[in-house]
Amino acid sequence: MRSVGHFINGQKVFDSTRTSDVTDPADGATYAKVALGEAAEVNAAVEAARNALPGWSATPPVLRARIMFRFRDLVEQHSQELAELITAEHGKVLPDARGEVLRGLEVAEFACGIPHLQKGEHSEQVGRGVDSWSLRQPLGIVAGITPFNFPVMVPMWMFPIAIACGNTFILKPSEKDPSPSLLLAELLAKAGLPKGVFNVVQGTKPAVDAILAHPEIEAVSFVGSTNVAGHIYRTASRHGKRVQALGGAKNHMVVLPDADLGLAAGALMGAAYGSAGERCMAISVAVAVGDDTADQLIRELKNRIARMKIGPGRDSANDMGPLVTREHLDRVRDYVRIGVDEGAELVVDGRSLAVPGHNSGFFLGPTLFDRVTPSMRIYKEEIFGPVLCVARAPDADAALALVNDHELANGTAIFTRNGGAANRYANRVKVGMVGINVPIPVPMAFHSFGGWKRSLFGDVAVHGVEGVRFYTRLKTVTSRWPDEAAASDFAMPVAN
Ligand code: NAD
Repeated sequence: MRSVGHFINGQKVFDSTRTSDVTDPADGATYAKVALGEAAEVNAAVEAARNALPGWSATPPVLRARIMFRFRDLVEQHSQELAELITAEHGKVLPDARGEVLRGLEVAEFACGIPHLQKGEHSEQVGRGVDSWSLRQPLGIVAGITPFNFPVMVPMWMFPIAIACGNTFILKPSEKDPSPSLLLAELLAKAGLPKGVFNVVQGTKPAVDAILAHPEIEAVSFVGSTNVAGHIYRTASRHGKRVQALGGAKNHMVVLPDADLGLAAGALMGAAYGSAGERCMAISVAVAVGDDTADQLIRELKNRIARMKIGPGRDSANDMGPLVTREHLDRVRDYVRIGVDEGAELVVDGRSLAVPGHNSGFFLGPTLFDRVTPSMRIYKEEIFGPVLCVARAPDADAALALVNDHELANGTAIFTRNGGAANRYANRVKVGMVGINVPIPVPMAFHSFGGWKRSLFGDVAVHGVEGVRFYTRLKTVTSRWPDEAAASDFAMPVAN
């Protein structure tokens, strides 16, 4: 069986007293054992990061970028291996896992431009003989705490930019699918990254608590569920750290009566059931405007659901794999029961699905509810599984109000042929990322990713220029090289 340990100071280590099982979700078997680090491992990682910091932060950005270029090539060369690790531990289908690796790679590509991105500004002659310039310096030691659903892409939202900016980094990946983080660490080392610049501490809450309390860690990036994100934000802030904490989601797709319903239904299938609904940008609520729209949409979805292929992720012919763990499967199944009890109309029930040869796998078939209302728990709470709720709204304003009333505000989409209606929606909706006839509007690496309300705690989104801002501190220098010594002046300096 595989043993998955930490990566500290350029070495793999497996000496934690606590471990947990990593399961293969397609058949429920134990696939690996992961070490669960605590304060001792976090302290060792901080020591390594501290020792590496002076050399790394003083390395010219162009040389840091060169390592990032090599890392980018290595990730591409090992993309199949990374995707297979993701599928083995997370369960998503291989083409989806390959897509995840590619989206992470794009952030490494963005970080290759760090000499340009980290440039400051210069003003000549702000006063007579006085120049002023600003620069962005690395923060120091920074940490990333990441969720199970994108074990490659979400860490790569963070560390390529953080280390390209001259910081040293400690990653605490999800204990549910820890292996890809170690392969990424090895590829960084192979690319020439000095030891101690990138460290991985595996673990659960005790490792996170040690990170949050450590006085030498300057900043924390977190991605995960909303309650934990709120806790991370409050605790890390209390310890004086800079923090961005991205939380859960309940993403709505509004379908106006004039939309191409075939296009909308096709888009909804991938957006709701891709990766078994375990995406923070999955669409979990379709808001159909008008009963005719809703009835047609339900018909289109039912036809498409009947054609879906569900099975192990390693078979690329499958559209959807299992859920990540037995506990999560039970939780999502429970939501289906709750929805029925609450009076929602269960149009397709995925609970009866059987995958031949994989009876112990964590599979749930695509599930579809109609006539879901805002008071229901299946509407209010994030389910994070292959369960799509259809809510009916009488008009576009009512649909907008529904979306704006939800406490989670990560992403949303509108499907329509009317440009004015689409623009009105994009302008008025209180959500961080908006798609117009695009179901999962995940911004590219050179833009920034982040929701509003309880989907993001903190002020700064991830990657893009916001990422560079997050991982650097602004300094402004004002300098004078007078020809003759200036006399003391006790008035407020002004340009003269
Ligand atoms: P999670 O909150 O359970 O775990 C995230 C990380 O926090 C993991 O590393 C975990 O070990 C750690 N953790 C868990 N409980 C903790 C606690 N009590 N104290 C300290 N640390 C703790 O999330 P998950 O189940 O791994 O991931 C799914 C969630 O992540 C969903 O809610 C999803 O919407 C969200 N997510 C959000 C985004 C986004 O961009 N907003 C992206 C991906 C995932």
